[in-house]
Formats: sequence, C-alpha cells, structure tokens
Amino acid sequence: MGANLPPPRAAILRVAVAGPLPGLFDYLPPTDADTRPLVPGTRLLVPFGRGQRVGMLVEFAESSEQEPDRLKPVAAVLDARALLGPADLALIRWAAEYYRSPLGEALFGALPVRLRRADARLDLDLPGLRPSAAGLALDLAALGRAPAQRRVMECLRAAPQGLGTLALKDRLGSCAGPLKALRDLGLIEACRVAAGPVPVPAALPDPATPYPAGPDLNPEQRRAVAAVSAAWGGFAPCVLDGVTGSGKTEVYIRLIAEAIAAGRQALVLVPEIGLTPQLRDRLEQRLPGPHAVLHSALPEAERERAWHSAAAGHATLVLGTRSACFVPLPRLGLIVVDEEHDASLKQQEGFRYSARDLAVRRAQQAACPVILGSATPSLETLYNARLGRYRRLHLSARAGGARAPAIAVLDIRGQSLSAGLSPLLRAQVEAQTGAGNQVILFLNRRGYAPVLTCHDCGWVGACPHCDARLTLHLRLRRLWCHHCGWFLGTPSKCPDCQGLDLRGLGLGTERLEEELRAVFPGVSLARVDRDSTRRKGELDRLLAASRSGEIQILVGTQMLAKGHDFPGVTLVGILDLDHTLYASDFRASERTAQLIVQVAGRAGRADRPGRVVLQTRHPDHPLLKSLIQGGYPGFAELALEEREAAALPPFGHLVLLRADAPEAEVPMDFLRQGRALALTLLADLGETRVQVSSPVPAPMERRAGRYRAQLLVEGPDRPGLQRLLRPWVSQLWMIARTGGLRWSLDVDPQDMM
Ligand code: ADP
Ligand code: ZN
Ligand code: ZN
Repeated sequence: MGANLPPPRAAILRVAVAGPLPGLFDYLPPTDADTRPLVPGTRLLVPFGRGQRVGMLVEFAESSEQEPDRLKPVAAVLDARALLGPADLALIRWAAEYYRSPLGEALFGALPVRLRRADARLDLDLPGLRPSAAGLALDLAALGRAPAQRRVMECLRAAPQGLGTLALKDRLGSCAGPLKALRDLGLIEACRVAAGPVPVPAALPDPATPYPAGPDLNPEQRRAVAAVSAAWGGFAPCVLDGVTGSGKTEVYIRLIAEAIAAGRQALVLVPEIGLTPQLRDRLEQRLPGPHAVLHSALPEAERERAWHSAAAGHATLVLGTRSACFVPLPRLGLIVVDEEHDASLKQQEGFRYSARDLAVRRAQQAACPVILGSATPSLETLYNARLGRYRRLHLSARAGGARAPAIAVLDIRGQSLSAGLSPLLRAQVEAQTGAGNQVILFLNRRGYAPVLTCHDCGWVGACPHCDARLTLHLRLRRLWCHHCGWFLGTPSKCPDCQGLDLRGLGLGTERLEEELRAVFPGVSLARVDRDSTRRKGELDRLLAASRSGEIQILVGTQMLAKGHDFPGVTLVGILDLDHTLYASDFRASERTAQLIVQVAGRAGRADRPGRVVLQTRHPDHPLLKSLIQGGYPGFAELALEEREAAALPPFGHLVLLRADAPEAEVPMDFLRQGRALALTLLADLGETRVQVSSPVPAPMERRAGRYRAQLLVEGPDRPGLQRLLRPWVSQLWMIARTGGLRWSLDVDPQDMM
C-alpha cells in the first residue's frame, strides 16, 4: 500500500497513465533539481513505450515489483500544483474500482478536456470582449431602438473586466450582428480574459435587499427542509418524491441557500442539458453566486473555467450533467440529484458510471446530505428507501394547489385514426383548443415516418451498417439511421425496381405535425423534438411561445416530458407507447411508466385541472392497469414484486460484458473464452451464487458496421460480483488482444442493448 506522504529518497511514484490502460505504472522521481514535494493528483509527463504520455501521480510506494533497472524517472512535472485533492482521488479510485474501469481513463475523464494533453498548461486565457471607455460612459437609453444591442451592452457592462466570447454566446445565444454593430460604434473592444474562476458578477446585490425569498413553504416542504437541515455535516441520503410542480425545486433552493450561507458549496446534478435553462435561471435569481455550469454542450474553455471555479472553492453552486459528479469541491456541503430516475445519469460509454450512485457515495465520503429528487423515483431508489437506507421525504400535493391530472386509457382497437388521433381524442383536442386551452400531443418517434418502402416491389430502406430501418425525414430530405447517423438523400424512385410509388409507413412527429395542421386548420401548432430544436435558442423560443399561450397544440417527443412546465396545458394525449409495453429490456416497463407520469405531469394547474389520455391497443396490460389504478406508487409496488420474483435489480445485481468487432464470430469467441474464465474463477472462489449466461448477439446485432454480442453476469450481492470482477477483468485484458475487437464491462447496466 502506498502512503500519501512526501516521498522518501528512493520512493517509487505510482502513476495512472491517461487512456484505457489498466493498472498503475511505477516511475522514479524526476531527475531535475526541482525539490518541491510532489503530491498525488499532480499531472506528470512519463516515458511510455517508445514515446511519452500524460499521467497523474496517484500514490507513493516504497518499492516496486519492476526490475530496478527497468524503472525510469518521470520526464516532467506538468503543473505546479495538484489538480485533484485527496478526496477527489479517493472518489475516482473508488469509482474506477467499482466499475472496473482503467484508473487513467477515469481520472483524466474527470479533468477538463484540454488538460488531458501534455502540452496544456494550467493557465489559459480566452478571447473576450469588454465595454470600451465610450461604452462604459454610454447612456443605455441611446440603444433604445436596438434591443439586441442593448442586451449585449448590459451583459458586458456587468462584467467590465471582459467576458469570454463563448460565455457571451452561451448567455445571449448567437449575437454576431449586434456585436459587430457595437464594435463598429466603438462601444466594445476585444480583450483577453483570464480563464480563472468564473468572475463574481460586478453588480452584487445589496446585502440589505437579498435574493428573493420565494413563496412560503407548505407544511410538507417545511418538513422536508427541516429533515435535511437537521442533518448538516453528516451523511444523509434522502429521496424527495413528489409529482411535477409539487415544489421539489423550491425545497432544493432553500437548502442550497442554507448551505451557501454556511460557507459550503452545493452540487446539483441534472440528467440533460435541455433541462437546465429554466432551472438555471431560477437558481441564478434566487441564490448568491458565482455559479458554475458544467455540461458537454458548453465550449471546452468555458467548461474549464467553471471547473476551476468549482475546484478553487469559488463557485457557491455547481450545476451540471453527470460528469460534474467528479468536479473537485473543497467546501462541498450538499448534493442534489434532480430527476434521479433518468437513465442519462448513467454514462453509456468508456467509463460507465452512474452519476446518481456516485453522488450518494460522494456524499457519504464528504459527510453531507444528498437529495435524490423525482416525481417517479427509480425502483432501486424506492427499494433503498423501503430498506431504510434512504430517508423518504414526500410532497403529496402540487405546490400551487393544482391537482395531479387523471390518466385515462383510451382503447383504440378497431378505431380509425386521423393524424394519429382516435375520434374521441380528436374531439377532446377540439374542445380544449376551442376553449382557449393548450394541448400536448406526445409521440416518442421523431422524423416523418419510421419506414420508407416501395409499393411495387416491397423494397424497404435499411441502414447498410446496422440492423435497422432508415427513418424518413421529409423536410431534411433524408433517409436517416437513428442508430449510427448514416444517411442518404431521399430517393425519388425505388433503388431496386425504379418504381415511383415510394411510401412512408408509420407516424413520426414531423408527419404528425403536418397531418394535424390539416385536421385543425387555423390552430397554432409547434413541434418540439431533436430536429426542430437543433438551432441554438430554438427550444427556449418554443417553450417561451407555448408559455405565453401563443401555441395551442404542442407536438413532441420525450423532450417535452423533461423539466419544462406548461401551465396552460389542460390535455395531454399520449398517442402511442404500445411498442414499449412488450419490449425485451426488463427496465422497459419502468421507463414507460416514468414517461407516462412525467408527460402527465405537464398538464394542469390550480384553476384548470388537466387530463391525460393514453391511446393503446392493450388496455388490459398489467402495467397500464396498475398505473391507472394506483398511480406511480401502485405501479412501482407491482414492478418491485416482479423484479424480486425474477431476482433482477434491485434484488439481484447485474454486470454486462459487451463486445463488438467487424466480424460476427470475433465477439462471440471472446465472450465464450471470457465465460470459461469466469466459470473457472467462480469455481476457485467457491462462489456458487453468481450466474454467467452464455453469450448472445445483442438485440440489434449489427450497428455502425460492427457485430455486437453480450454476456450477462448475475449475482445476489455486489461483494460477490466484485470478487469475480477483479481477477476476471485482468484476464479479459489478456485475451482481448484480437484485432478489431472492442469490449467493455457495464456494472449495473441501465439498458441491455
Ligand atoms: P417541482 O420541482 O416539484 O416541479 P417547483 O419547485 O418547480 O416544483 O414548484 C412548482 C411551482 O410552484 C413553481 O412555480 C414554484 O414557484 C411554485 N411553488 C413551489 N412551492 C410553493 C409554495 N410553497 N407556495 C406557492 N407556490 C410554490
Ligand atoms: Zn421497388
Ligand atoms: Zn445505421
């Protein structure tokens, strides 16, 4: 075992090398005269193979198992200080162990992208803009007739030392026109801004008029706040469950404010960035900064700045997507995981960790409360609450007094649909829009039609690289593979028989929008999906337009189900979820129930109760029945019983070994060998409770030109599985040298594809 003390004279440095390389590598201290003591968490440049690589000092050892004459000294110490502290290193080491990921990959994955390169130094300055002397002196009223310019000017005057151009774009959207105009007027000028911590806004609020206090909490909210407040300074995992609009965010805000007032930093994790604009604005208005926002859609340099701001203990609040769970926070006092049930909190490639589970682990390590919030908590979390491991805090009512909408199942067997709507749903849409209310129509399939076929010969557009159909996107004139991204221009005639009668089969959101326009002429309509919101700022625009009441019918995919409220919506039609009811993945029913409840949560408010209509051809499906009769809790109870009977999570634990290669036999061979090794290890360990399945092709075997196969390991507890994984993964690295093979281990997989 290494000790994290300054090295004695002949100490060995144990280094994690950036990239997917398992294990630590031993080096001698650098030979140059620099006598500053090295500390773990410092980046190093080390000789590796015939070249050099970036690495990170992880620990010291007194001796090495390497031959002494093969040990080489570190080539250079890259930074004057450590980037990760002891707690950060401990968390990432724990995660790399648990998920069996190479430590170098995990450590460097937790750093800003730029710092993964050897030539990157810590200090960085960025191109920016600042108000010129004339701009500072200007009376803003002079820009009265150019509101866009005025907005830019206000933003820059709040940061007279300069704002990175990227930060500016992030804040205001694309504003090239106004920027050019202001430059031409000599009101702003180029500058460099230091990429240090996010600057504190110049206009700090007067402490006498602090941030708005927010509404008076209802008794349940007060109880939730009090329960967490009572736990400051200790590990306290809590589940905050309450329907959309029940005031969970309000509870987070009160607690974050308490944490900040006590000099602590708060970490708020959200599943997707589409969620953050509203939440971010709300946090910004209510809580003292500086706030650091971290997500992958931000420009690299901005991310890095936010990262340093958090790591330096500057940022009071860090709001980020899953990778933010590793950001160093020297004064961490509270963690919130919002929408904790969401699958995108699990990293699905490379280092496959669950940000939610790590958040809990991190809170334990940092001795602070962690709140897992959701209207539809995952079955794992509910089970932990049932066992008393997590404290359950429940908000039963909608905060403003609105009732949660009733969900009705609409049997559409034998009905003729127009624009995806049965006659009954169509009549309801008409009635609601006629009364000046808003309607959401939910269809979780983007594009025009999921299949394009030739009526003459039966040709079907299929992806040449995947076992998948190509989706027709009419407006983009594309046949597009949603699995690998390959596309071609929409053919004008059949590639096989040259026939001209090509037809799109099935209904996607683009077609739904078109057909609805024909069915409801004169009704204003908008579509929210990944295609319609590709342009930056477009989602915000659509959301604002629907909140202002300008849009009467909102058509969309699951993007609509996440995070945004639509207070004017009185009817939600869920057009088609039948394909998910019989999906092979054991989590499919949980996901479907969550989706239905999340979509339903968008409807209604105090004075206008909402209604949810779910069209289905399987009205007797047990999932739907339990959900309609018992709501999400009723569903969850039934689903947990089923999981228990099948020894599936949270009652059993899973590890999925995946492999893929350009030839179908390569991954199957690897998995067969892997299975044999696992069985031998299990026999040696005397472990009889762990099951290793035979390898099978993945549900979609060919994807992006590679054949994929997988093998499932199941065990009743995590320690039993971990005992197998440790030696097994080392052996897998040894046998995986076949050309073209890629493999990965997924501990606690979220999807079984
Ligand atoms: P959730 O996060 O559960 O969806 P929010 O905290 O966003 O709920 O609350 C929903 C709405 O109700 C917000 O507009 C919020 O300002 C308001 N709200 C929250 N708590 C209260 C309260 N105690 N009294 C009145 N309004 C509240
Ligand atoms: Zn044809
Ligand atoms: Zn494809």
